[in-house]
Amino acid sequence: MEQRKLYSAALVLLLIITFVAILLQFYLMERTLLLHPGNTANVSAISDKSINGKSEATITEKDGKWLLTCQIMPSQYSWPFCELSINFFKGKTIGQGIDLSSFSSVYIKARYLNKGHDSLRFQLRTFNPEYGRFDNQDTWKYVGIEYWPERSAESNNLPLKSLQVATWWIVEQKLPIKYAVPEFDNVMVLELATGNNIQPGQYLIEVEYIEFTGKYFTNSQVLFFLISLWVTSAACFLFYSLRWSYKQLSETEKRAEDLKQLNQLLNVKTKELKDQAERDPLTGALNRAGIEKIFTKELEVLSLMFIDIDHFKSINDNHGHAVGDDILREFSKLISQNCRFTDFLARWGGEEFLLVCPNTALEDAYDLAQALRKLISDHQWANNIRLTASFGVAQQGNESPTAFIERADKALYDAKVRGRNQVVLSAH
Ligand code: GH3
Ligand code: MG
Ligand code: MG
Repeated sequence: MEQRKLYSAALVLLLIITFVAILLQFYLMERTLLLHPGNTANVSAISDKSINGKSEATITEKDGKWLLTCQIMPSQYSWPFCELSINFFKGKTIGQGIDLSSFSSVYIKARYLNKGHDSLRFQLRTFNPEYGRFDNQDTWKYVGIEYWPERSAESNNLPLKSLQVATWWIVEQKLPIKYAVPEFDNVMVLELATGNNIQPGQYLIEVEYIEFTGKYFTNSQVLFFLISLWVTSAACFLFYSLRWSYKQLSETEKRAEDLKQLNQLLNVKTKELKDQAERDPLTGALNRAGIEKIFTKELEVLSLMFIDIDHFKSINDNHGHAVGDDILREFSKLISQNCRFTDFLARWGGEEFLLVCPNTALEDAYDLAQALRKLISDHQWANNIRLTASFGVAQQGNESPTAFIERADKALYDAKVRGRNQVVLSAH
């Protein structure tokens, strides 16, 4: 239950993070880079004069705007131009420009003051040491686009992905095709130049500002973050569920094992109790209840002997009850150890015992009785007591167990009458 609550909470948290991340990505997290005369140094005017042309370009600042004054002159150079150039690498580590890769568009607030409908060229120069050389600006990539300012409201807003690498530059550099893609991560120079087909004449270009906008993170970065988050959470979920199930399983197994052990204990206890119920506590021989089931077995041949210790009362009287008890124990032990494994000894009453002998004919039972009788009288008893016992032996005929036992009891009575310490057979 706790587990489920935790998972639900984690799921809710994940959903919240996802929604917040998406909302932030769409409505906040915007970053801008604004370039205008108030905050931008290293601005210069360049014309084709630098490459043997004749055009003239100067730059001034007026009312917080740049004003590029341009005199386009025909010459042997085929593509005359003027441009406003912002240098990003001055004062930085050699080879280092600025990273514009997190921006997605640029808005250029610029226009021709004296003539309309001429195009401007927006261009970034990027340096990549993999194919370029810092000391040779011709090897810096030309990434740009030509556009017509003020053609429409949107025309000054240039998506960076619409910028292209100049084909003539790729051809001139003989660059592998993999480098023919725009790069924005190390921009050295920004250029705003007159367009390709500019005619000779005087031009005034006013540049108010150039503003890059973008997100702190690209959509793919956010997507990657969210997918990673969900996949990691799913993996954790799976790991913890498996571990939990495994724990549950081993706990169940342990409980089953405990129950099994308990059950075994109970079985032992039950058996003990059952044994106790069928045994005489003093001698450990069977009691009446214990011996009864022998008679329920359908045995072809069954003999038994009734044994009664002679003058046992006098032992109690002369040596005390405790000694009497010891004698009873010793007596029981002596008979158990000297009868056969298949015989059953029971204490029938005070000092009376019953030895039941399955598969034993009367003669064999008689022999056993005589042997036991002799053993008893020859045995060295405690306190030098002399002990004898009388035996009544019978073989079961077509009669009830009660009648059978009574017959043996009768034979025992005869043995007592005849002077004790003897075996009497019950004639059927
Ligand atoms: P007999 O030769 O005629 O059998 O004489 P006996 O004294 O053995 O006969 P009786 O049946 O008169 O006496 C049995 C005595 O056994 C009486 C009783 O005090 C004693 N007795 C019975 N059960 C126990 C017992 O558990 N412990 C002890 N110490 N004595 C017992
Ligand atoms: Mg007796
Ligand atoms: Mg007796």
